[in-house]
This record gives sequence, structure tokens and C-alpha cells, in this order.
Amino acid sequence: MDNYKKVQEINKSLNIDAVLISNGNNMRYVSGFAGETGYLYISEKHHMVITDFRYTYQAEMEAKGYEIVTIGNAGYEEAINDILRTDNVKRLGFESGDMLYSKYVELADKLNVDELVPIKDEITGLRKIKTPKELEYIKQAESIGDKVFAEMLTFIKPGLTELEVAARIEYLLKLYGGERSSFPAIVASGINSSMPHAVPTNKKIEVGDFVTMDFGCVYEGYCSDMTRTIVVGKASDRQKEIYNIVLEAQLAALDFIRAGLKGKDVDKVARDIIYNAGYEGCFGHGLGHSVGLFIHEGPRLSPNEEDIIEERMTETVEPGIYVRGFGGVRIEDLIVVTKDGHENYTQSDKSLIEL
Ligand code: ZN
Ligand code: ZN
Repeated sequence: MDNYKKVQEINKSLNIDAVLISNGNNMRYVSGFAGETGYLYISEKHHMVITDFRYTYQAEMEAKGYEIVTIGNAGYEEAINDILRTDNVKRLGFESGDMLYSKYVELADKLNVDELVPIKDEITGLRKIKTPKELEYIKQAESIGDKVFAEMLTFIKPGLTELEVAARIEYLLKLYGGERSSFPAIVASGINSSMPHAVPTNKKIEVGDFVTMDFGCVYEGYCSDMTRTIVVGKASDRQKEIYNIVLEAQLAALDFIRAGLKGKDVDKVARDIIYNAGYEGCFGHGLGHSVGLFIHEGPRLSPNEEDIIEERMTETVEPGIYVRGFGGVRIEDLIVVTKDGHENYTQSDKSLIEL
């Protein structure tokens, strides 16, 4: 992949001679190398993957056109020093948001450079606007989620535990082509559903419970994310009320979203509906986030997001109402932003489903 040219531009703008990319998603985005250990080294003259023996073959296969350096027994620092010397590097950038402090201290001690320059999210920022190919993968990942949700509607019944339901979701995600879950599936029933990121427990699902399922998978490296909340048995009036407010907020935000808006403006549309319905204090998280190689990317849809959302950025739209001691509802779709609106990748039904 020739995304290294974009990194060379960043190097120039930051006045650094070379950069060591350590964030795995950035390594993959820039070079294609999806191994778990190593660095990308990019300077004006070189673009190389530095890794260890376990990943040499993989790097050769995936990072086409890159020099592949396999470190020796002396480790990364020695291998990097060899490169720095021949490449005449004085100022070397590193991803400060990714590196452990202990690792930084080690590199600062051992690397022969004048200066290690912390760079923020310039390289991660390259990933915000998706290519058509990336969008295809994300869409495919989300459609696997839709298929799993449809099947879960025939599986869920009173007496099953949240863990059993979560296990089934994760099994099906793989069965239908996901490489893995994009995050551990959330299954929260009854009063547990009042916790937005509840961890599945051995609690049995009972008649009358809300059941919130939030899950996604990874397809060709790209994540999906969706949430549906259903009721097991007949929904009470209060459950219907809460569900309908969340749905109204979600539909309004979807209707509003388009390229050129600030993330906080989209958030506000959904938030105002929920707060004006009397549920201020019950929607304590942001409306959404972007999704790509990583499950939570920027820009976000949140009360303080100043970033502008642009065409070909993905966003989740996931308002919720969480009432302590009662339960909660979240509805989450994954969309791609277009000039005049959006394309929704999530096809699953959003009317209140009573099983
Ligand atoms: Zn989610
Ligand atoms: Zn999400």
C-alpha cells in the first residue's frame, strides 16, 4: 500500500526525519501488515516493517513493496539504530498516544537520535475518511450482525442466562464469517440493562425483561457495531414509553446527520429529545463514534465534539435511556455519512420486538 506517502507528508509538516509507528491499526492501515508486534519505520528514503521472526513471512505477504527487517537477538533498539545511522536521522517521531512510558524510556535511552518527537494523532487521523473498499468491509461486517440478530430472536427465551445469550452471539458472528467479535458482546437483561456497558452475567432472563444486545464482528480487519433492545414477553407501558423516546431520538439524529456538521450538533438533536421527555440524567454517554479498524474511532458524536463529520466517515448513532433500578434501552445503527445524509448499514428492525 502506498499510504506511506501520506506519512511522509506528515513527517515533513512536523519537521521530523522519520517516524516509528507502533499503533497496530495504523501499521495495518499504512502498510497492510496486520501482525501484532513490530514497528513501521517511514522516512523520506525508506518505508519498512521492523518485526521479529514470528512475523517475517506474514510481513512479506502483507506489506507489499516494503522493506522487511527482522530483528536479531539484540532486539529492536539495535536494529532501529542500524537504520537510523544509515538514514541519518536526527529527529525521530513516535506515537505518544500508543507507547507505554516504560517503552519510551527504553527507546530514549538506547536510540541514537538527537530527539524523540512525540506526535499525537496525525497518523490515526488518516483513517477517518474511509475508502470505498473499507466501507465495503464495514458494511459486510454489519450485515453479519444483522443476520445474527435475526437468529437470536428465535433463540432467546426465559431461563437462558445473559452469558448463554452472549456466547451464542459470538459463536454466530464467527459462523457467519466474522474473524472475531469487535468487542465482547454485551447482553444485559432486566435491571442490568440500566448499565450501558454491562458485562453479561449468570442472571437468567425473565419474562418482562428488557434485553439489550450490543455486539459486532471484524471482517477483513474492519469492525461492526450494533445494538438492539427487545422485551421478553409483553412490554409494559413504561417500557414502551422509554423505547419510543429512544427510537424517536435515534430517528431524528439519523434524519439530521450529513457531511459538514459538527459532532456535537448531531448529538444535541437526540439529546434534546431525551431530555425534553423528562429523562435528563438518564443518557450519560455520547450519541456515537466512528468505526473502522478499531471499534471506537473519531470523530465522535458527543456533546463536546467540535470536529466536523465528513463524507465517507462512519458513525454509530446510539442514543439510550438508562433508569437505575428499572432498566434501559439503547438502539444503535452504523451509518456512513454522505453529502446530503447517510447510508444506514444496519438493516435490523427497530420497532419494539416482544418475544
Ligand atoms: Zn455498540
Ligand atoms: Zn457503539
